[in-house]
Amino acid sequence: MVHVDGNVTTCCLDEGLVNRIGNLRETPLAALWRGPLMQSWRRAHVEGRFEASGPLCTRCTWRSAGALPDEEVEAWLKAQNDPALTARWRARRAAAAASGPKEGR
Ligand code: SF4
Repeated sequence: MVHVDGNVTTCCLDEGLVNRIGNLRETPLAALWRGPLMQSWRRAHVEGRFEASGPLCTRCTWRSAGALPDEEVEAWLKAQNDPALTARWRARRAAAAASGPKEGR
């Protein structure tokens, strides 16, 4: 989410900029969005390590309200070329499907 002052955060819940990743006055959005911090936090989400995906995610109970559709996660995983990561994510998704709709991503 981009705030009116140019600050960028990972989440629409983050009005306090707890998960701030930068500011558009200093860094282009594409660089922020594709940068190492966002890649690291995406990987943490895929693996269910919300405590490693920014301080707001650590205490979040929504996990993850704005998550991408599975097809887009699969596309991102394909670009990572990490079969073990893909396997872990698919296992988590299968477990979530088996446990009901409230399981986080
Ligand atoms: S885990 Fe919570 S705080 Fe983090 S991106 Fe998802 S919804 Fe936002």
